[in-house]
Amino acid sequence: MGPLPKKSRLPGKDSKANAAAAVSPLPYEHTFRLLVGSVTDYAIFLLSTEGVVVSWNPGAERIKGYKAEEIIGKPFTVFYPEVDLQAGKPAMELRVAGEVGRFEDEGWRIRKDGSRFWASVIITALRDETGTLIGFGKITRDLTDRREAELRHRLLIEGVTDYAIYSLDVNGNITSWNTGAQRIKGYTAEEIVGKNFSNFYTREDADAGLPAKVLAEAVRQGHFEGEGWRVRKDGRRFWSNVVVTPMRDESGDLIGFTKITRDMTDRMQLLEKIQQHAQELEVRMAESERANAELEAFGYSVSHDLRAPLRAIEGFSDIILTDFGTQLPGRVPELLQNVLQAATRMNHLVQDLLDYSRLGRIDIDPAPVNLLRAVREAREQIPGKLRDKVTLSIDPALMVAAHRPTLIQVLVNLIDNGLKFYPQGRTPHVEVTARAENDIIMISVCDEGIGISRQHQERIFHVFERLHSAETYPGTGIGLAIVKRGISRMGGTVQVESTPGKGSRFSISLPAK
Ligand code: ADP
Repeated sequence: MGPLPKKSRLPGKDSKANAAAAVSPLPYEHTFRLLVGSVTDYAIFLLSTEGVVVSWNPGAERIKGYKAEEIIGKPFTVFYPEVDLQAGKPAMELRVAGEVGRFEDEGWRIRKDGSRFWASVIITALRDETGTLIGFGKITRDLTDRREAELRHRLLIEGVTDYAIYSLDVNGNITSWNTGAQRIKGYTAEEIVGKNFSNFYTREDADAGLPAKVLAEAVRQGHFEGEGWRVRKDGRRFWSNVVVTPMRDESGDLIGFTKITRDMTDRMQLLEKIQQHAQELEVRMAESERANAELEAFGYSVSHDLRAPLRAIEGFSDIILTDFGTQLPGRVPELLQNVLQAATRMNHLVQDLLDYSRLGRIDIDPAPVNLLRAVREAREQIPGKLRDKVTLSIDPALMVAAHRPTLIQVLVNLIDNGLKFYPQGRTPHVEVTARAENDIIMISVCDEGIGISRQHQERIFHVFERLHSAETYPGTGIGLAIVKRGISRMGGTVQVESTPGKGSRFSISLPAK
């Protein structure tokens, strides 16, 4: 800034002179004044050697609220809060600027309306060619917004309790400390600020130079993240997740690091617990699988062993009835007939149980099966005259991925049920249809029989669940359980739609070949 014209050099308190009035003969001074005169972001003004305002720009008017004519000639002390005035700060600032050429400060200043703003201030001593002090240039910036943002930021960081957030200087000495850091590491700010962050490392890690390596890595990569054991003030270890970020100033020079540490001990413990539970569960599942397998094996052998005596009862009853029927007294033949029927029923039951149990034990490797042929084979197993009541509507080319004997067994059960659950005296009819849907083959077994009410449609697939007495409709209550197990073992599903009195449709879906 060029020297001030003599007249305005030491303006008195009552001077109304404005810097703009001090017209310079030099064109660059004029330009310079224009420049200052247009700046609104900075208050740029001149003070006399005593601190009286000599010039004023639009930025000064905007920031401090005074118009040029209101403030020129007034002492610059009006901008200071009472505490600063009492401490003699304005005079001190001019003295320092006069002595060293420049004074820089940040602090509260007062606007015309009495409100405060956070100012960044630079006061520069102005001297003439002979070196005599002729006044001061003052540049003030309103940093209230920035300060508030910084304050909010600081409060936010300080208030965080889940994370230790702190900063280090370039050597790893701690420069700030938040609540989370105190909570996690156990040190108060007073105890730890100024100390080196290597204090948090285990002896082995510190001896291995890990702290320095972490900082070097952060500088090299622009970021460091890691997990490891750290030590609390009381010596206890904790598992931490650490993020270190280097901080640089505007010119890119390293000025320190920020460090965020999370205590992961709880998580680690939780993880260990989950793993432990998973292991226990695995053991239990293996146990229950083994128990299931044992139960299956037991059921199988019991069913198997039951059949021999049953066959004996059936056989001997039959012989007695055939060979000695006529010689038997009174109701004996009739009673024996009952024994025979009961034995036959028992035999069916055992046979069905055996089939059901076997389905859980055999290896089922689905292979391509021609559906029409399989359904025909199932129909062949239906006794003579009923067989004709089964119609098929299946594309002969349809192939399905299935275990052929199981598929036939399933179909026999469904067709058999469809022919069985009919109102007395009516002729049954069952239709088996199939269609391909993308990679799935849908097979339907439909009847026009008695139907199943909605509330029973799920339980009929369970073993021994029957909706009728054996007298009304004979059966063991195992057929649909075999259907369900067989289909699910082949990777398919089965479901029923039914309207009581109208009929039922059992639909099976199996993967296409
Ligand atoms: P079972 O046929 O030996 O009784 P299932 O397990 O095959 O045993 O069937 C269980 C029950 O589901 C039957 O007792 C019957 O009440 C009912 N059910 C099965 N299929 C049909 C059907 N097509 N129509 C009506 N009810 C049926």
